[in-house]
Amino acid sequence: LRRNPGEPEFHQALREVFDSLEVLQDRHPEYKDQGIITRLCEPERQIIFRVPWVDDKGTVQVNRGFRVEYNSALGPYKGGLRFHKSVNLGIVKFLGFEQIFKNSLTGLPIGGGKGGSDFDPHGKSDAEVMRFCQSFMTELHRHIGEYTDVPAGDIGVGAREIGYLFGQFKRLTNRYEAGVLTGKGLDWGGSLVRKEATGYGATIFADEMLKARGESFDGKRVAVSGSGNVAIYAIEKVTQLGGLAVTASDSSGYVVDDKGIDLELLQQIKEVERGRISDYADRRDSATFVSGGSVWDVPVAVALPCATQNELDADAAKTLIGNGVLAVSEGANMPCTPDAVSLFREAGVSFGPGKAANAGGVATSALEMQQNASRDAWTFEYTEKRLTDIMVNIHRTCLETAEEYGRPGDYVVGANVAGFRKVADAMIAFGVI
Ligand code: NDP
Repeated sequence: LRRNPGEPEFHQALREVFDSLEVLQDRHPEYKDQGIITRLCEPERQIIFRVPWVDDKGTVQVNRGFRVEYNSALGPYKGGLRFHKSVNLGIVKFLGFEQIFKNSLTGLPIGGGKGGSDFDPHGKSDAEVMRFCQSFMTELHRHIGEYTDVPAGDIGVGAREIGYLFGQFKRLTNRYEAGVLTGKGLDWGGSLVRKEATGYGATIFADEMLKARGESFDGKRVAVSGSGNVAIYAIEKVTQLGGLAVTASDSSGYVVDDKGIDLELLQQIKEVERGRISDYADRRDSATFVSGGSVWDVPVAVALPCATQNELDADAAKTLIGNGVLAVSEGANMPCTPDAVSLFREAGVSFGPGKAANAGGVATSALEMQQNASRDAWTFEYTEKRLTDIMVNIHRTCLETAEEYGRPGDYVVGANVAGFRKVADAMIAFGVI
């Protein structure tokens, strides 16, 4: 940790994983002997670059770009790009580290990586976003490829940004290498269900946790945070499974809608108009907007944090537990603080950590790569079936692994141990590299 000062999120992610791995110590001394944990503290490669671009007023702007190619034991580096003003090296490293185990849990041949920039897309014109993406890819293109490193979207990077990035990659390399990026548009190499996959997957994982305790979504109130890609499709799947999603949020506050969030209206505001969540309450009688505050104050049986890291702390966990929450499934990466996770564990709340619960997104990205490699395009039904099977399988793996290592019902231990073992075994097979 001394080698990585000022990177609290990275330290938090390492601690959480390595604490869970203590259960492996006696049965697997080879992991220590081979220095697996020491090696995993250091990404294989970290790229940091200047991203200069010109805004609509003609002023030169400079942002910082990152790509952390963390671990390629199981396949090419794979993980999203995040454009948000809070992005720094520590955040990208924490996300890249988590991605290794998440990708391992999917059972698909993908390594772990992550990237992004401190560019803030809010309030920028399409032309500004395009110029920024083109400049970002002008450096990134030399590091990525179908067999090397395959970026995707994350916060602030959706279909529009992937389009500009892919266009610039194609222009610079003179190659139509569809498998170099995922999250592409359907007409140019994208996959059905990719847009929905993370939100759907986190909800399917929650459904499996509920079933494991003899419950279901039927008639239950559900709190969802965020109103971006993950949150929107979590809300859709909750509704399909018979639950009532009553909240959505953004960085300005949250809305409560006791009749259930109107998905069409939310999509119109967020996906088409790129507006704020307060606009939803302005246009829906049954909804109230709460400026600031915590979305977790709303009484619910299931919570799906789908916005950002550390958005659900100990106080929020106490409120949720007091309101009788049964299950929490992380659509976002590391949205619950370690204190909150401990409180859920003590209270017997089923808790699905992001690296398991939100793995549906990257799993469907790997399915997009499969379609690109075979120049095929699967139907929605077939792709969704593959996604559902993968999520059910991840849930079962976590549960069985937790049981095997004497921690029944602890999805955190199950996910960390199951994800880690495959990566560690491959690293041992390759020797010290
Ligand atoms: P989007 O950019 O589509 O949406 C992010 C949402 O979270 C927005 O509503 C945003 O509000 C809110 N948000 C972001 N930062 C903050 C903050 N600091 N405080 C409060 N609200 C915030 O991103 P995604 O939906 O794609 O990603 C959400 C989470 O899911 C992230 O943790 C991401 O890493 C994770 N994830 C995403 C995957 C994917 O496939 N997209 C895959 C796996 C994980 P505002 O507009 O006000 O900033």
